[in-house]
Amino acid sequence: MAAKRDYYEVLGVSRTASQEEIKKAYRRLARQYHPDVNKSPDAEARFKEINEAYEVLGDPEKRAAYDRFGHAGLGGQGMPDFSDFGLGGLGEIFEEFFGFGMGGRSRRRGPRRGEDLRVDLTLTFEEAVFGCEKQVRVNRYAPCPLCHGTGAEPGTNPVRCNTCGGVGEVRRVQQSILGSFVNVTTCPTCGGTGEVIPIPCRRCRGNKQVRVTRTLTVKIPAGVDDGTQIRLAGEGEPGTYGGPPGNLYVVLRVQPHPYFRRRNDDLILELPINVAQAALGDRITIPTLEGEEEIRIPPGTQTGQIFRLRGRGVPHLRRNGRGDLLIITHVVVPTQLTAEQRALFEKLAQTLGRESIPQQEKGFFEKLREAFSL
Ligand SMILES: [Zn+2]
Ligand SMILES: [Zn+2]
Repeated sequence: MAAKRDYYEVLGVSRTASQEEIKKAYRRLARQYHPDVNKSPDAEARFKEINEAYEVLGDPEKRAAYDRFGHAGLGGQGMPDFSDFGLGGLGEIFEEFFGFGMGGRSRRRGPRRGEDLRVDLTLTFEEAVFGCEKQVRVNRYAPCPLCHGTGAEPGTNPVRCNTCGGVGEVRRVQQSILGSFVNVTTCPTCGGTGEVIPIPCRRCRGNKQVRVTRTLTVKIPAGVDDGTQIRLAGEGEPGTYGGPPGNLYVVLRVQPHPYFRRRNDDLILELPINVAQAALGDRITIPTLEGEEEIRIPPGTQTGQIFRLRGRGVPHLRRNGRGDLLIITHVVVPTQLTAEQRALFEKLAQTLGRESIPQQEKGFFEKLREAFSL
C-alpha cells in the first residue's frame, strides 16, 4: 500500500489533465502493456497499475476524492454511492401521486429475459405421425468466449460510467407548477449499465456477446401436425443482467402424403372401386400406415360409403390411443369400353330396366358430414 505510485504519474498525465486526455493516455498505455502484446516480465504488473489508476482518474468523483485525500481518499468513506439511495422508490411515489412515472426507472440494470426464437422444421408425413428425432440449427447470441461476456478486452475491466457515476440513471431537478421534482432517465452514456468499457474486446467489439450457430436435437413426439409448435425452454436468446434466457419455438411443417389426408387424428383414404366391385363386393388391398392390408367391400357398396378401421389412424399427441383410418369408396364408371364389355353392359341394361326413382337417401356429403360430425 505504502509504495503506491501516484495515479497521475502512472498514466503520465498532469494533475490538470482533462478527462479526455486521461482516457487517451490510458488507452495508449493499456495497449502498450497488455500482457497479450507485451512479453516483458513486469508488463502484467504495469497493466494492473494502469487499470487501477484509470478506474480512479477516469471517474470524476473518485478523481476529486483522490485529488483531495490521495490514496487514503479512496477507502470507501466519503465516496457517494448512488446505488444505495433507492432512486426507484422516488419514482414510485411520483407515479402514485401524479399518475406518471419517471422514464427509465424500469430500464435500470434489472434482469431482462432473453428474446424467444423460432425455427421452422419440415417433416415427412410419417415422421409427424410416428415421431422422430431431428436436428435444428439455431443462430443465436452467446456470451463472448474471449471476454466471458464482459465486453472488455481480456486483462482490462469495465469502469464506472462518468456521466451517471455508475447508477445507470441521470437525475435532473425540474421545476413545475407542482414544485420541483426529480426527473430520472437512463444514462445516455452507458445505456443504464453504469459501466463503460475503455478497451473493447477485440472478438465481440465490446458487445459482450457473439452470434453462434448451435445444432440442437429435437425430439418430435408421435402425432404432431402441420403448425404444431414445440417449445424448447431456455434455448432462445440469452437474458441480460442475470435475466433468464428466452425459449426456442420449433414450428413444424408436415409434407402431404400421396394417399392419406389427415383430419385431426383420423386418416382419410379415398378408394376408387369399379362398378363390378361395387355391385358384387370384393376383397381389396389398401395402404395403411403399417403397410398393405386387405379389406372386404360388401356387395352393393355405393360411392361415398365409409369404412372405418378403428385405431389405425394417427397416434394422439402426448396421450394413449390413435385415431381411425376412414376408407371412402368412390365408384368409378368406365369411360371407354371394349366390345366385349359393351356387350355385357347392354345385356345388363336389359335386366336392370329403365326406371329411375329420385334419390331420397342421404347423399355423399351428408354421409361425410355425419362421419366427421362436422
Ligand atoms: Zn468479447
Ligand atoms: Zn452512465
